[in-house]
Amino acid sequence: SRREGFSSIPNVKWEDVGGLDLLRREFDRYIVRRIKYPNDYEEYGVDLETGFLLYGPPGCGKTLIAKAVANEAGANFIHIKGPELLNKYVGESELAVRTIFSRARTCSPCILFFDEVDALTTKRGKEGGWVVERLLNQLLIELDGADQRKGVYIIGATNRPEVMDRAVLRPGRFGKLMYVPLPNQDERGLILNALSKNKPLDADVDLNAIARSEACANLSGADLSALMNEAAMAAVEEKFTKIEAPTHEGASEGGMPHTIKASHFERALT
Ligand code: ATP
Repeated sequence: SRREGFSSIPNVKWEDVGGLDLLRREFDRYIVRRIKYPNDYEEYGVDLETGFLLYGPPGCGKTLIAKAVANEAGANFIHIKGPELLNKYVGESELAVRTIFSRARTCSPCILFFDEVDALTTKRGKEGGWVVERLLNQLLIELDGADQRKGVYIIGATNRPEVMDRAVLRPGRFGKLMYVPLPNQDERGLILNALSKNKPLDADVDLNAIARSEACANLSGADLSALMNEAAMAAVEEKFTKIEAPTHEGASEGGMPHTIKASHFERALT
C-alpha cells in the first residue's frame, strides 16, 4: 500500500459536496481563512482550535468535506487510515505516528486526516490492549506539540465516537466535535445534483423529485453515489444495445440520444 504521509492537494471542490453548509461555514472560519490569511489572525492574537472530530453515520461525506477544505485552502492533505496504522509490528506504529506528524510539518499548510480514528484511540484498558495504549500515548504527545506545527490542522473521522478515549477529545487535541448527519430530503437533492455534474443527464430528469421519493428515504451520500452510478450504467448499457441492434425507431432518434433518463433511476431503485 501507499507509504504513510504521502501528501498532495486533493481535487475535491466545495461544489462536489452536497449539503453540509453549516460544516462548510465552520471550516471556512476555523481552517480555510486561517491558512489563507495567517498574518491577520496573528495580528489580532486569535487562538483557535486546530483539531476537529467529524462523527456520524458512514458514507455521509466526512472524507469528502475534509478534502474539500484542503482544496479550498490550497493546503496539502495527508490521509491516514486508523486500522492500517495499527496493523504493524510492535514499536513500528509509534514510529509511523512520529513520521506522519513530521511529514505534516514539512508540507504545511497541511490537513492531516485520520480516518476511522476510533481504532487508534479506543478507551485505555478496553478493546485495544497495550499496543493501542502505546500508540495512543504517542499520538497524544504529537497532538500536544501543537505549538510546533504552525499551519497543520488535524481532522479525525469516526462512526463510533463513544468508544474513543475522552483524553483525545480535549481542546488542543481533537477538540472541536462536528456532527455529520444523514442527509434530509433537500440535502439528498443537493447531493444528487453535485454527483450529476459532468454526467450526460437528460433534461427531463428531476433529481429533487427522486430525492423526495420514498425509495430514497434514509439513503446516505454514499448510497446516492451508488444510485447515480447504477443509473449511468443502465444508460450506457442501453446505448450499446441500441448500437448493436438498431431498430428503425432507435436509428431515427433525434436530439440528445443516450442520456441518463428518469427510467434509468427507476430501474436502479427497484
Ligand atoms: P465513512 O464513515 O464510511 O468513512 P464518510 O462519511 O467519510 O464515510 P465519504 O467517504 O466522504 O463518507 O463518502 C463516500 C462517497 O459518498 C463520496 O466519495 C461521495 O461519492 C459520496 N458522498 C457522501 N456524502 C456526500 C455529499 N455530502 N455530497 C456528495 N457526495 C457525497
